[in-house]
Amino acid sequence: MSAKILYGKDFAAQIKESARAEVEKLKNNFNLTPGLAVIIVGENPASQVYVRNKHKTCEELGIKSEVVEMPASTSKDELLKKIDELNADKSINGILVQLPLPDAIKNHSEEILNRIDPLKDVDGFHPVNVGKLVTGSPALVPCTPAGCIEMLDLAGIEIDGKRAVIIGRSNIVGKPMLHLLMAKNATVTVCHSHTKNLAEVTREADILVAAMGKPKFVTADMIKAGAVVIDVGINRIAPKKLVGDVDFDAAAEIASAITPVPGGVGLLTVAMLMKNVVTAAKLQIGA
Ligand code: NDP
Repeated sequence: MSAKILYGKDFAAQIKESARAEVEKLKNNFNLTPGLAVIIVGENPASQVYVRNKHKTCEELGIKSEVVEMPASTSKDELLKKIDELNADKSINGILVQLPLPDAIKNHSEEILNRIDPLKDVDGFHPVNVGKLVTGSPALVPCTPAGCIEMLDLAGIEIDGKRAVIIGRSNIVGKPMLHLLMAKNATVTVCHSHTKNLAEVTREADILVAAMGKPKFVTADMIKAGAVVIDVGINRIAPKKLVGDVDFDAAAEIASAITPVPGGVGLLTVAMLMKNVVTAAKLQIGA
């Protein structure tokens, strides 16, 4: 195996450390303890694990954490009312609605997320924040793609002038990744399920981002020798077995650097959320 393995925990620790220092500064200089409210509706076990993890990380870093548990029977209007309350609550700087929502209100996800004050939208999904990202004045950026960029920076991997290819065009990963890489002066191609000759395109990538949700889909022959491979995919192929979108062992023979799954990009997301809570608090006080 020749590639350098980019372990998420190393970068997550650095991101959290810098968030912790910022939290200290906000406390000392502005008497402000940043606060995050996470709303969880219903009892999805995976969501419960994610929310616990976010709560624990907040506590580690000195961020106030409020978990708002609402029953699966919660109506759209009840949820909107709760968001309005949190929008008005000065002790809360970041609001996050854990997805997916229960089936009964799932269709209203967009309206519900759009109710969050853009200055408190720590997931970076609000159209105002999406618009800012696209026009080049990013404020709150979706955590997973932002974490990938932070990792490349921390690992000293040059983006400027590189050819980047992203597989996947979702609002959560692919599209924000396009704008973040372009802002760093990469030349970016975004592929999706209608892309013809995918392997031909991916083989041009100096930086290849796989975010499609297809286990081990990206094989070694789709990767240029020496490329940096970022695997965002998380696929459960057995009750206790997670794999990425990249065929890791074979890809590691040809890439210069690669993120593992599990243990790669997934660990950066919560760290970036903490960073976004700090950024949101600063934006709100104009610091
Ligand atoms: P979506 O399902 O929303 O998007 C998948 C994208 O992949 C779509 O744009 C789709 O194309 C494209 N795609 C699917 N099949 C192919 C194919 N055969 N060839 C080319 N493109 C294809 O997924 P997400 O972006 O939400 O998530 C992607 C992966 O990342 C998942 O495994 C998810 O679990 C993981 N993830 C991990 C996170 C983390 O680490 N914290 C956070 C978010 C996601 P089209 O648009 O044409 O349908």
